[in-house]
Amino acid sequence: MSETVLLVGGGGREHAIARAVADDATLYACAGNRNPGIASLASGFEQIDERDADSIVDYAADVDADLAVIGPESALEAGVADALDAAGVYTFGPRADEARIETDKAFQRRFMSEHDIPGNPDFETFDSADAAAEYVAEYDGDVAVKPVGLTGGKGVRVTGDQLTTEAAIEYIRDAEWDEWVIEERLVGEEFTVQAFVANGEVRTTPAVQDHKRAYEGDEGPNTGGMGSYSDTDLTLPFMTDADYDAAVEIIDAVVDALPEYKGVLYGQFMLGADGPKVVEFNARFGDPEAMNTLPVLSTPFLDVLTAARDGESLPDLAFSGEATVCKYAVPAGYPVEPDAGARIEVDDSSVGDALLFYASVDQREDGLFTTTSRSFAVVGLGGSIAAAEADAEAALSMIDEGFHVRHDIGTAELVQSRIDHMAEIRG
Ligand code: AMP
Repeated sequence: MSETVLLVGGGGREHAIARAVADDATLYACAGNRNPGIASLASGFEQIDERDADSIVDYAADVDADLAVIGPESALEAGVADALDAAGVYTFGPRADEARIETDKAFQRRFMSEHDIPGNPDFETFDSADAAAEYVAEYDGDVAVKPVGLTGGKGVRVTGDQLTTEAAIEYIRDAEWDEWVIEERLVGEEFTVQAFVANGEVRTTPAVQDHKRAYEGDEGPNTGGMGSYSDTDLTLPFMTDADYDAAVEIIDAVVDALPEYKGVLYGQFMLGADGPKVVEFNARFGDPEAMNTLPVLSTPFLDVLTAARDGESLPDLAFSGEATVCKYAVPAGYPVEPDAGARIEVDDSSVGDALLFYASVDQREDGLFTTTSRSFAVVGLGGSIAAAEADAEAALSMIDEGFHVRHDIGTAELVQSRIDHMAEIRG
């Protein structure tokens, strides 16, 4: 009997999840925005706000869902997993209490120290902007300044080459938030490891490197993520196997301390001279990183979901061994003054060997148009990062000036600069 899966969320990440389960299950989806890629794979697509737990539970009942998968952190924070679980629909996504590992950065750091989880930077938490600002003024060294709650990946500021201490203090005083985490600035190369977690078990996937800055050469403001790459094995070209294993050990330690956790646990690490330290945890797939990981997962994702639900041992994961390069096309001016309304001409038939994932698009009678958020991503796959990058670029060759793309992601030059940077740090 075919399983009926309800997917919550409408971004590129959720389009990747939809593609990973659509062949093996009957898929329904709901999100605040209509994603045409997901809708084309699903038996039904309802426009429901991702935080509206009651309506999502009703929709799960309407479609007789056997299990649910939650994409966005906003839904986890709103207790959508709690509500679906309570309604008898097993949900691959943590309950709001466990999702605090992402949704409350103060909880995250305190949790790590209470449980002696390795890789925690020096940190302090504050519930007043004045106290946080004073601490930054007196701190000996560079810091990362973090609002405690969710900010769509855009709330953190780091002092040093991008920002003076005075500007960070001004940022804290002018911001709308009271609660802050201030922590030591970590230096090195960032990477992500995403794990499937259920029943106390952990299965990790290949490391990915995201690019948060808007412009080429890692310049400009932070974004939700402009693109990402992964290699043919579990590591990245600047990492050793031991670095990957150290990251997995940290993820294992988190799950030991959160035995009820289910869903994706995403570790963001800064690889320095002493190995990886934790930048943050997320309680769901990354967007873009899901688009690197799920297309190379040879094990059916549905098998992971049903084993998790049925209390069985999670399957050992097999991967295709292809490298991936994901590049987002975003509206011109993104993220500062994004220009909505540009026509999107790309479709599955125009991207060659690459994969196309829709994110935030406006579907009108006369076609698809950009909104103010990231529009779509292409993912190239190949026997090397260079081959995957070439496929992604070929797929993007027809888009015009209405879009911005970081063409440097996955290029030999940028990858080499990461290797050189890491060599310099390791001395
Ligand atoms: P987060 O929202 O915690 O992922 O932070 C966003 C970005 O800020 C990260 O991807 C890092 O590039 C940077 N960041 C966060 N924490 C630190 C830290 N302690 N040191 C240096 N950079 C950081």
